[in-house]
Amino acid sequence: RAKSQGLGSAVEFSQDIGLQVRERSHLLRDLRMAFDESQLFLTYQPKVELATGRVVGAEALLRWRRDDGYLVPPDRFIPVAEQSGLIVGMGSWLLQIALLALQRFRAAGFPNMHMAVNVSPVQLRQTGFLAVVQETLRQTQSEASALEIEITESVAVGGLEPVIEILTRLREMGSTVAIDDFGTGYSSLSYLERLPADRLKIDRSFVQSLERDDHGSRIARTIIALGRELGLTIVAEGVENETVGRLVTALGCAEAQGYHYGRPMSEEQFLEWLQVHQKEIA
Ligand code: C2E
Ligand code: MG
Ligand code: MG
Ligand code: MG
Repeated sequence: RAKSQGLGSAVEFSQDIGLQVRERSHLLRDLRMAFDESQLFLTYQPKVELATGRVVGAEALLRWRRDDGYLVPPDRFIPVAEQSGLIVGMGSWLLQIALLALQRFRAAGFPNMHMAVNVSPVQLRQTGFLAVVQETLRQTQSEASALEIEITESVAVGGLEPVIEILTRLREMGSTVAIDDFGTGYSSLSYLERLPADRLKIDRSFVQSLERDDHGSRIARTIIALGRELGLTIVAEGVENETVGRLVTALGCAEAQGYHYGRPMSEEQFLEWLQVHQKEIA
């Protein structure tokens, strides 16, 4: 009986994997089609300076809306895009779209805003990544300082040296680098010290725990203190209410993002947001 149970679960297990593989290949097929049929688009979320409420930049966040209206979460389709290499072409495309949107935001009376773009490790390590960035900056007539690249600590997998080299060159060009979601992945305090960066974004799971004052909140406090020690500008992610906004300000975060300030919005909505809300925040 034990034996047959064992066999049963082995069969189930392999069926399960078969299902996952099939789902993945369907998702990849659909994603390729989505890219060709412009089901992909960007949304923009404001990043504000806590002391003044001034908007300092926007983060471009990718969206996929299927024909039936269903929004596929980025956390589901980005890994598929990464594993298939599709992220490289998608990444170049969205860099251009994001920088064009930024031109409109800047022209609307916010000439110092920057655009933060999430870059996957595969994309960053791709030969020619820097050339694509330079070419896109040139084509869109953007200053290098208008662009911030967001990376996660997972870039360290596969060797830190080439990554340090690329990030250093980006910063020499005048662009900035943010370390995203720090503390959620393969965190190593030494990465934080070695990665050339300007901003450190505290993951929303830690930020939100500040209100509960639990284990996560102690991690948040520690990461903030460490980041400040290293001279990084600290950004709190996922601030959803005023209480948390005050807490992160008191702890030394300079900037914040979150639903409390603004949700990810279409380009048009963001332009309206800039006009209406930016003076109300502080
Ligand atoms: P991320 O870069 O850390 O982005 C922040 C995520 O938090 C976004 O989720 C955003 O919508 C969400 N968020 C912002 N404020 C709040 C808040 O106050 N409350 C809550 N609950 N959530 C908030 P989203 O857009 O689903 O993106 C998830 C992840 O997908 C991103 O995490 C990023 O890692 C990845 N991603 C999104 N767009 C791109 C892209 O263009 N390229 C790459 N490589 N990755 C991307
Ligand atoms: Mg990000
Ligand atoms: Mg993040
Ligand atoms: Mg994330």
